[in-house]
Amino acid sequence: MPKRWIERLLFAETCALCGEPLGASSVVCDRCLLSIHSQPEEDLLSIPYLDGYKTFTRYGGREKRLLHLVKFEGLKHLARELGRLISSHLRAYVERLSPSAVVPVPTNPFRYWFLRGFDPVEEMLKETGIPYQRLIKRRWLWRKPLSKAKGVDERRRLVRGAFTLKEKYIPRLSRARILLFDDVLTSGATASELAYILKSVGVEEVYLFAVFRPR
Ligand SMILES: [Zn+2]
Repeated sequence: MPKRWIERLLFAETCALCGEPLGASSVVCDRCLLSIHSQPEEDLLSIPYLDGYKTFTRYGGREKRLLHLVKFEGLKHLARELGRLISSHLRAYVERLSPSAVVPVPTNPFRYWFLRGFDPVEEMLKETGIPYQRLIKRRWLWRKPLSKAKGVDERRRLVRGAFTLKEKYIPRLSRARILLFDDVLTSGATASELAYILKSVGVEEVYLFAVFRPR
């Protein structure tokens, strides 16, 4: 990313989404943030091994741009804004399911952790104040990004073997109910792979809450 673009963002005077002048020191104005309404979707897709899911809202141009700012331009505070936005929705889903653990889907370490020093998915979750556990490790595999995959079959191939569970948690997972948390639910390939891994060590039910779902 060219340095000038980053500087422009850091010292932005206009909203990165609508171009209107900014009041406070942020890159996206409150009006744009508040325009992201909840448009929940629940259990419309059938995802192998997953017992159910809920998404916060639909993923249009504005939401895509926002997530891009978080994930590729490393804007941690925007991740937190998103966390605040979804907080009550995730909380309601947690109350309904009462899972044994809420578990963030780890972001590809190559792409984010080393570049930005934070995990956008975990950062959102942190902001909700809901306790969570990092049960899952993402392996250091260099693969084509999932967003570039064509079709469900390729997505499934790309996530196969990409995750493992942390050994020390495995004994506690017997008959557990796990709620996964992720930023985007597209085909469900990642959620399905994780549900399969979790169930193979005795987890009884696996659910997913994802922030965005493409239109
Ligand atoms: Zn705006």
